Amino acid sequence: MLIDSHNHLADPRFDGRRDRIIEEMKSASIVHCVVNGTHPVDWPVVADLAEKHPAFITPSFGLHPWRIQDSPDDWLPSLEEYLQRFPRAGLGECGLDRWMTEPDFPSQIQVFENQLALAAKLNRPTTIHCLKAWGPLLDCLRSAPALPPILIHSFGGSLETGRELAKLGAYFSFSGYFLHQRKAKQLDILTLLPSDRLLLETDAPDMLPPADCQKYHFASLNHPANLQKISQAFLDRTQITIGQHISNSVRFFKIGGFSR
Ligand SMILES: [Zn+2]
Repeated sequence: MLIDSHNHLADPRFDGRRDRIIEEMKSASIVHCVVNGTHPVDWPVVADLAEKHPAFITPSFGLHPWRIQDSPDDWLPSLEEYLQRFPRAGLGECGLDRWMTEPDFPSQIQVFENQLALAAKLNRPTTIHCLKAWGPLLDCLRSAPALPPILIHSFGGSLETGRELAKLGAYFSFSGYFLHQRKAKQLDILTLLPSDRLLLETDAPDMLPPADCQKYHFASLNHPANLQKISQAFLDRTQITIGQHISNSVRFFKIGGFSR
């Protein structure tokens, strides 16, 4: 039994293939997944998926730093409406990214802080993307008047940063991308973080794992059912058990309703 704590089934690259993908996920022992929206245009697709598969999908709605520029002025009240409409939804994917030079960093901080405040107000599990912005992320989290539960997805920071984030209650998710040989150091860091804070994810259709961890191949996209092989490779290298991974995910996202 497995839970994919972060994917993008609503991504247009999956158009026309979602029903089949969900069947393939189920046959790969995946019992639940969290589907992240990254922009107001994909929130309706995330909402439809969650309504169609309530026991299988936890929706999450957010504005990703890469997509701030073309967001409508009313994105924040609209986001709150989606979260009110789906009381079990998370907030995300949101975050900070200094690997990208656009949008400018002050705008990213403002959009991130707005989402953090909304998530704290509604007490929603919040999925955070962070690239090359660990100091500002820690500053935002430490200066927030209140924090929601936070998940750093595809955590790529240092052990020191991970430990500071853990002090703030953060969870971390591991994607199959870190199984590439060149990412071995990051895999070692993840294994040193508290084992009761670790989740597994695919980030499909992105973050393609190494070829030997791909259960399904199509085009150059990552398939969420690859989680089966990704989890095996990760669990082989750590002290974490499948049961622990499931209970960490259930605790963080407050999910249930699937047969255990
Ligand atoms: Zn993502």
